[in-house]
Amino acid sequence: MLRQYELVERVKAYDPDADEDLLNRAYVFSMKAHGSQLRASGDPYFSHPIEVAGILTDLKLDDETIATGILHDTIEDTVATQEQIDRLFGKSVGRLVDGVTKLSKIEAQTDSERQAENLRKFLLAMSTDIRVLLVKLADRLHNMRTLHFIKSEDKRRRIARETMDIYAPLAERIGMYGFMDELQELAFRELEPEAHATITARLAKLRTAGGDTVTRIASGIKLLLGQKGIDADVTGREKRPYSIWRKMQGRQATFESLSDVMAFRILVDDDAECYRALGVVHGRWPMVIGRFKDFISTPKRNGYKSIHTTVLHSENARIEVQIRTRRMHEEAEFGLAAHWAYKQGGDGAPAREAYPWLEDLLEVLHDAASPEELLENARLAMFQDQVFIFTPKGTLLQLPKDSTPVDFAYAVHSDLGDSCVGAKVNGRVVPLRTRLVNGDQVEILRSKAGAPDPAWEGFVTSAKARAAIRRHVRQKNLLESQTMGRKLLESLALRLKTALGDDVLGPALGRLKLPDRAALELAMARNVLTDAQVSEALVPGSTAGQKPRRTRGTPGPAAVSIHGLTPGVAFELGACRPIPGDRIVGIRQPGQPIMVHTIDCASLADEKGEWLEVSWGKETDGAVASLTVVVHNQPGSLASLATTLAAHNANIVNLALKHRDREFHTDVIDIEVEDLAHLTTIITALRQVKAVVSAERLRG
Ligand code: MN
Repeated sequence: MLRQYELVERVKAYDPDADEDLLNRAYVFSMKAHGSQLRASGDPYFSHPIEVAGILTDLKLDDETIATGILHDTIEDTVATQEQIDRLFGKSVGRLVDGVTKLSKIEAQTDSERQAENLRKFLLAMSTDIRVLLVKLADRLHNMRTLHFIKSEDKRRRIARETMDIYAPLAERIGMYGFMDELQELAFRELEPEAHATITARLAKLRTAGGDTVTRIASGIKLLLGQKGIDADVTGREKRPYSIWRKMQGRQATFESLSDVMAFRILVDDDAECYRALGVVHGRWPMVIGRFKDFISTPKRNGYKSIHTTVLHSENARIEVQIRTRRMHEEAEFGLAAHWAYKQGGDGAPAREAYPWLEDLLEVLHDAASPEELLENARLAMFQDQVFIFTPKGTLLQLPKDSTPVDFAYAVHSDLGDSCVGAKVNGRVVPLRTRLVNGDQVEILRSKAGAPDPAWEGFVTSAKARAAIRRHVRQKNLLESQTMGRKLLESLALRLKTALGDDVLGPALGRLKLPDRAALELAMARNVLTDAQVSEALVPGSTAGQKPRRTRGTPGPAAVSIHGLTPGVAFELGACRPIPGDRIVGIRQPGQPIMVHTIDCASLADEKGEWLEVSWGKETDGAVASLTVVVHNQPGSLASLATTLAAHNANIVNLALKHRDREFHTDVIDIEVEDLAHLTTIITALRQVKAVVSAERLRG
């Protein structure tokens, strides 16, 4: 275990201005907090955070990140609190430690389900400060290095699987190949112990048989380059068992048939030398077709630069050669961490303020504009419009930002959305309009009787939820219209004293040019056809001799006669909708029809025209009145409304749904009535209907 002064010295070596006091205090605090806790290895627990901090010094990270490494498990595993960390080590370190703690909680949740890609994206999205992710990766690396101490095989395999699926690809994505290699290797050893043992044994055998082939070939290459005036560092190694194994899997090849188990790295000073060295290598040994890649002219999306080639070194030895500058090498090993270190050291003074790491990542992606990079860049930008939400089982869902529990429910399954009546977020019941944030765990409370509330449309975010709610509302309106249409048709038949048999209905549908009875009912409910039209179609001649019924809308002038007006004088009914029986007044303005208002109409206060004394005549033909009716949301409520209106001989002229929430809906119904007495009777009757909460005449 690193001692306190050793750790501080390591940091001082690459950053002389590092806050020594901060590191010392973090060391002592963490040691006291972890106290006598032990690791599976039997070591004091405290050795773990110190080793993690040690790994972070390899990346030459700033003092805050090192302090975070030292403190990273104190909140999760000891009695230390976030407030303590904030107070003792400052907001910046506090935020970093909080970030790492949050990531650890997520890890613990995802036992049962494995959604590697979503989880990787989630971890990236959570790490708005990439230093959080670096500490997390260092934490995982140390845990993998000490994995063999864990007794439970299940647990070891779970951790190894997670490392292979999530953390190694994450390290790759931010260009930390050194981390990626080691994580993969350690995970491979746990997941495929036999394959790992076999490959390791054969590599050893090969080594014994061929002497120190790797060193011999490496010095050969160095010598050759030297002769051409290129000063290069050449290192060679056997490929890692995991990479050999993957090749065997990919090509379905046996170990013996794999001739390229050695890899060499040539490090030079600048780009031009890379290409010269490549020329020398290709000039001396034939290149293997299809294995040459130039990531210097076209870097990988994570910023990786290098030239890769494979050459036929001898009869049965193909060797892989990577050529890069020394700086590219450091960047390849440490990824963004190296990028950051260079930036920091650029003008000699390390940047002490919190560094916007994610922006830095985006900058890297901007720098080399290959289509692949731009794509990745767009994908990262996408995270900002996304939230990642857990189901109770730990499945991770990606939802649009500002999503609510309703969006979540519809994302899981449309049935769940339709039957949703409430939600728990992180175990607490919350309003359905609550905006979810990254990492929330959501449980939907459902009811069989539940149905989408049209009001949800006002706050849902996802297109899927919105479409489902609309579909449901449309469906429900259609059902209600059908029910109402059926009642209207039946009551009309009753009035006409005719049965609705095929002998009557068939010809009627033909006359109305409608395909079936359902279409007729719907046309009546939606007021496309008036009672008169339908009567005439059902029983031709039935309307003859009756007073012509007005079509819907306002009654024509001839339908109402008013004393005091010269017959034939044009008049209009005001927005207050006077009906016979109302006390009324006429307003005359030059050049305009006379407006008839009820005497209590609010608009009269502003009238400037001449007031005329008017009253209803004896021969009236009824008028249209508006009602506003509040009805309980329950099956058949609208039908019972329609039945009541039909029973009182009130023709529905128009019906509009004005407002709807969970319990009630408010309808505005225009009906034709004979007079005020008729209307009063209807309102009284409506108020007797069980589903009706209130029924009022609507004025103006
Ligand atoms: Mn840890």
